[in-house]
Amino acid sequence: MARTALVTGGSRGIGAAISKALKAEGYNVAATYAGNDEAAAKFTKETGIATYKWNVADYDESKAGIEKVEAEVGAIDIVVANAGITRDAPFHKMTPEQWHQVIDTNLTGVFNTVHPVWNGMRERKFGRVIVISSINGQKGQFAQVNYAATKAGDLGIVKSLAQEGARAGITANAICPGYIATEMVMAVPEKVRESIIGQIPAGRLGEPEEIARCVAFLASDDSQFINGSTISANGAQFFV
Ligand code: NDP
Repeated sequence: MARTALVTGGSRGIGAAISKALKAEGYNVAATYAGNDEAAAKFTKETGIATYKWNVADYDESKAGIEKVEAEVGAIDIVVANAGITRDAPFHKMTPEQWHQVIDTNLTGVFNTVHPVWNGMRERKFGRVIVISSINGQKGQFAQVNYAATKAGDLGIVKSLAQEGARAGITANAICPGYIATEMVMAVPEKVRESIIGQIPAGRLGEPEEIARCVAFLASDDSQFINGSTISANGAQFFV
């Protein structure tokens, strides 16, 4: 029987590429989103992948949403915690609101996404937890104290979950993308984007599909002994 994968923020950007790659591998896929109904409806129409709307920052909403997915699509074997936001500001201008929004979505959101599926994975003796972190969690970034803190926190989450889940057949790994050509990055002013590309030895932005292929590998049986790892996919920008 086909395994079921849940991809948060799976209707746009990197998440959409992940949802499509997992579907192409034969998984049943459910993708979530926060509020962009139009993009989600378009995505479902184009791909046939079911989309579900909830706020990953809210535990009760996440738990209820996951229960719905499990009833309608199947028990979740693979969870990809991909939903994320930025609220950039230099530290001296960063507001507590900007700090909390990013922590609640990118860090607590991972807890809220993984916790409701964890016991089912333990009972079924199989699970894949894949968290989309960031190069900026590895190296820090100007004006991203909040974002970098969450993405570094993701690495602590997977290393700890790996140790707790290993004997139950569950792996937990993180992918740290460098700069990928999504709306999040294309929204950056062109001059800034050019200077970013200038810092990438590969001389280009990554493509969402390049991250999706890493996810597909981590989701597969072939990756069973890779646990608690961080895969850096950044065009040689930074070596970890
Ligand atoms: P996008 O902005 O293109 O898409 C973000 C997705 O997350 C959307 O589907 C959005 O839903 C969803 N989302 C945002 N907030 C919430 C929330 N509170 N609850 C539920 N869903 C939410 O992002 P990217 O594809 O660029 O990024 C995906 C991940 O990759 C993020 O974690 C990001 O930090 C990480 N990353 C991205 C890089 C890049 O270069 N793009 C580099 C390194 C890491 P909706 O459509 O409704 O808005």
